[in-house]
Amino acid sequence: MIKVVNQNTMTNNLPFLDPQETIESDYSAFLSALKETAFSGDINLSYGSRLAVSTDNSIYQQLPQALLLPKSVEDLSLIGQTAAQFPAVRFSARGGGTGTNGQSLTPGLIVDLSRYMNKVLEVNADEQWVRVQAGLVKDQLNDVLRPLGYFFAPDLSTSNRATIGGMISTDASGQGSLVYGKTSDHVLGLTSVLVDGTILTTQPMSMDDAKSLAQQPSVLGKIAAQLLATCIGKREQILAKFPRMNRFLTGYDLEHALNDEMTQLDISRVITGSEGSLVFVAEAKLNITPIAKHKALVNIKYDSFESALRHAPSMVAAKATSVETVDSNILNLAKQDIIWHSVKDLITDVPHKDVLGLNMVEYNSNDQADIESKIDELCARLDQNIKLSQSGVIGYQLTYDTTEINKIYGMRKKSVGLLGKTKGEKKPLAFVEDTGVPPENLADFIMEFRALLDARGLRYGMFGHVDAGVLHVRPALDMCDPRQEAMIPEISDAVVALVAKYGGLMWGEHGKGYRSEYSPTFFGDELYAELCKIKSAFDPLNKMNPGKICTPFESDESLVKVSAAKRGGFDRQIPVAVRNAFEPAMSCNGNGLCFNYDVTSPMCPSFKITGDRRHSPKGRAGIIREWLRLLSKQNIDVATLEKSGKSSAWFTKLSNSLSKQQKSDFSHEVLEVMDGCLACKACSNQCPVSVDVPGFRARFLNLYYRRYSRPLKDYLVGNIESMAPLMAKLPKVVNFFLRQNWVNNSIRKSVGYVDTPHLSVPTLQQRLPKAIQQFDLKQLQNLTKEQGLKKVCIVQDPFTSYYEAGVVEALAQLIIKLGYEPVLLPFMPNGKPQHVKGFLDKFASTANTAAELLNEIQALAIPLVGIDPSMVLCYRDEYIKTLGEDRGDFNVLLVHEWLLKLDLPTKVTTPQQHYALFGHCSEKTALPASESQWQSVFAKFGLTLTPVAVGCCGMAGTFGHEESHLSQSKGLFELSWREQIAQYTPEQIVATGYSCRSQVARLAEFKPKHPLQVLLNTLE
Ligand SMILES: Cc1cc2nc3c(=O)[nH]c(=O)nc-3n(C[C@H](O)[C@H](O)[C@H](O)COP(=O)(O)OP(=O)(O)OC[C@H]3O[C@@H](n4cnc5c(N)ncnc54)[C@H](O)[C@@H]3O)c2cc1C
Ligand code: SF4
Ligand code: SF4
Repeated sequence: MIKVVNQNTMTNNLPFLDPQETIESDYSAFLSALKETAFSGDINLSYGSRLAVSTDNSIYQQLPQALLLPKSVEDLSLIGQTAAQFPAVRFSARGGGTGTNGQSLTPGLIVDLSRYMNKVLEVNADEQWVRVQAGLVKDQLNDVLRPLGYFFAPDLSTSNRATIGGMISTDASGQGSLVYGKTSDHVLGLTSVLVDGTILTTQPMSMDDAKSLAQQPSVLGKIAAQLLATCIGKREQILAKFPRMNRFLTGYDLEHALNDEMTQLDISRVITGSEGSLVFVAEAKLNITPIAKHKALVNIKYDSFESALRHAPSMVAAKATSVETVDSNILNLAKQDIIWHSVKDLITDVPHKDVLGLNMVEYNSNDQADIESKIDELCARLDQNIKLSQSGVIGYQLTYDTTEINKIYGMRKKSVGLLGKTKGEKKPLAFVEDTGVPPENLADFIMEFRALLDARGLRYGMFGHVDAGVLHVRPALDMCDPRQEAMIPEISDAVVALVAKYGGLMWGEHGKGYRSEYSPTFFGDELYAELCKIKSAFDPLNKMNPGKICTPFESDESLVKVSAAKRGGFDRQIPVAVRNAFEPAMSCNGNGLCFNYDVTSPMCPSFKITGDRRHSPKGRAGIIREWLRLLSKQNIDVATLEKSGKSSAWFTKLSNSLSKQQKSDFSHEVLEVMDGCLACKACSNQCPVSVDVPGFRARFLNLYYRRYSRPLKDYLVGNIESMAPLMAKLPKVVNFFLRQNWVNNSIRKSVGYVDTPHLSVPTLQQRLPKAIQQFDLKQLQNLTKEQGLKKVCIVQDPFTSYYEAGVVEALAQLIIKLGYEPVLLPFMPNGKPQHVKGFLDKFASTANTAAELLNEIQALAIPLVGIDPSMVLCYRDEYIKTLGEDRGDFNVLLVHEWLLKLDLPTKVTTPQQHYALFGHCSEKTALPASESQWQSVFAKFGLTLTPVAVGCCGMAGTFGHEESHLSQSKGLFELSWREQIAQYTPEQIVATGYSCRSQVARLAEFKPKHPLQVLLNTLE
């Protein structure tokens, strides 16, 4: 693992952490040999890169030797060919890393196809197929197919980050599987690479061809021979053993490798569901399905989860396309999450009743009349149920709107992640999370499953695909407690016995991974031996994801076990107090939602632009946990370190910094990963467990720079709020210098800062009448209540006040036009830039000062209004986290929040004017209603406003001004904003963020307005 050298002599400063190069010699030799070939992919050896792929969504943690990122089939082949000389070198392919049972974890080499091998290669709509690379994310494929009227049908909750390769290897499926099938039902052919580098192209072949292939002495010949021997020779046992269920048990699909008539052999079918234990899947030819023209979703509400379960089969019998169920635990968690905002009107409460279970029943058809008659029939039955209090039905809601249907499924897909939000040390865990039983047995099975968990005093949430008999259950355990960890094998054994009793599978959906130890029990000795023979034919030396599914025939190799090393074993090395203090990093459960590829989603810009999983919330949480663990091993208490406030002398810092090249301190790796974060806070609100990276990032920077020298740009950013007012005293002079190339060049070279913005001329002081500027607290305190009600205090921020004074002026005028009297609060630093750069002591003091004044005004009941979302939201988040109760209860409103409180007269503007809202990502994620609220404000003014779905603009405060981030900043703008902006005229575009407006001005050469400026124009 990692050797920590205790060179630290100052216990009150950050120690030196020395990760020792631990790549085993065979692997080092292999990697050196690989570098000598034409391999064009990346080879990542850094400890941080290895850590980033040492976990998935499971309870396990396993550090690999290195990470290989191939770019082509040829690269995969070179990996195999080179490895032929290194028998000890082993691999695991990896896609999105969303496995729930450690499927892709390995002590060997991770081969990640998701970074580069993620293209759609060919679409043939006429013949209804597509050819793709294995690292392509499933929703990305559907984005390409949607305009053509098709989709790749197997649906899984992780569709926005799971890859086609991962889906093939786990035979993924999900909602609608009764109609749409599993991945294996849609694979027409595969291009794979065998462990020796042989490229294998597979598709169904006639029995004659299969038999003649089986005569050949090649590897492929051996594979065909073994498959024929097993699949034909053991046909009877196979048909008797494999459950007659809609779901397949991962392992090798011996039944469907032959068609029903036994006239064809399909090797692809055996590879599908093999969890990377046979080949690297490089490319796939997939069947695509026409999108049904009409859809309807009925959300049926029940008085209990059991009622929902028992009622589901009747809907399946009535030919519903799918039936999904969630229990009240999940519903309650969803209600507390940002996602509820999108579905709250679609799943409303039932008056005087508790909704304790929900069935989401979907009907699809190409015929409107057909779907309507089915829905009418169902609704009539439901009305009857409600009237007669039957089947526990207490209400239902119907929608035919595809967008609304997608929103409901979005909530359902987020459910597993939401379970992680459960308060306390015990967190819901995946290890028996996807049991499958014949649907008719499901309700009884679940009652017994619940009894099993209740008997152990465990809490859990349940939801699932009731139509397919698959149930998702995650019992809550504290994996930092070894006694609770010991319950994992015990509960697993009990569940294995229970599913067997009900004729089902422990792995109804997610595959086996570390549960492979149960393979022999499930398959039985005879068929298990056949699996081993097939493994031997493909991978005789057990180099492909060893220990998963089965081992080569008659080898000494062993299967992986549920008792394997877990993440909890690492986490518990961190003292409880530190774990609590860094709760956001500890609570990341690896579900991978932050790997979202969608460029219109704010989560997570740094991952989107780098494609590097270290630069994601999950990667950052993982690296911080390891940093805390290594510190704990040196008996360093981070909380004490933070409190001590001690820092090395400047010359010691300088010397430490100068020796960076010679001594590799693990903290440098952590810094690199934190440095790429834009502090946009999308993770804080969009991650199902609210992993707040900017929070722990600031704490890390605070400690890191007690040992090392800070770059100059940090001081510039950290002090921007004190410098801006000074510079604004002579704005023309400052701007004159900023227009000189030599000045810009020297700022870039010395500070690393680019495109420094110009100060506003005329300044805010010159723009606003003196009366508005003269702030007098005493005078405000002496106002009568009526006089006070007329006032509105403008809370300044450095960006709008000094760089966009026109916006502040417009706010003052808008306030006047609406019949109120603006009061400009004196400029006082907010502290956000200090927080971003980790000057935490300074931030605390800034926040204290600002909170004092803001609380005094709050006491007068005069509304406080601020313009810039990221600054205003800092008062609501970082201030609370830093000041605790001392923050007081002041509330700075954003402009739209204030406007919504007013009784605005409805205005009709002719001709109707249309605007496009580009919301700030911190605002959209922290205040999910903000866009619709702006819309309703605009509607009052007789204007229409369309929120535009965009991700991060790439500026994020000062991030985009830092030279080291410039290309990423520009890249993000191109990725998410450029095309959307081009859809509108500059006059139509409004943006709420100062950063966003500046970025558009810099890269699209026009400055969008703040929405309040449009409102003012309308009034004028
Ligand atoms: C919150 C959550 C919800 C989930 N919901 C569902 C669901 O609804 N339905 C469902 O089926 N699953 C679900 N899963 C499980 C998981 O998302 C699926 O198994 C998915 O198919 C894995 O895809 P991936 O790209 O993340 O693969 P990874 O996790 O990276 O790998 C999974 C397995 O596939 C192998 N593999 C990956 N790529 C290749 C390749 N190119 N060649 C050979 N082997 C490869 C790996 O070695 C590993 O054994 C869920 C997981 C989570 C965390
Ligand atoms: S950071 Fe959040 S979204 Fe990302 S893997 Fe962790 S828990 Fe999931
Ligand atoms: S703050 Fe933004 S960039 Fe940083 S990890 Fe979170 S989502 Fe990613």
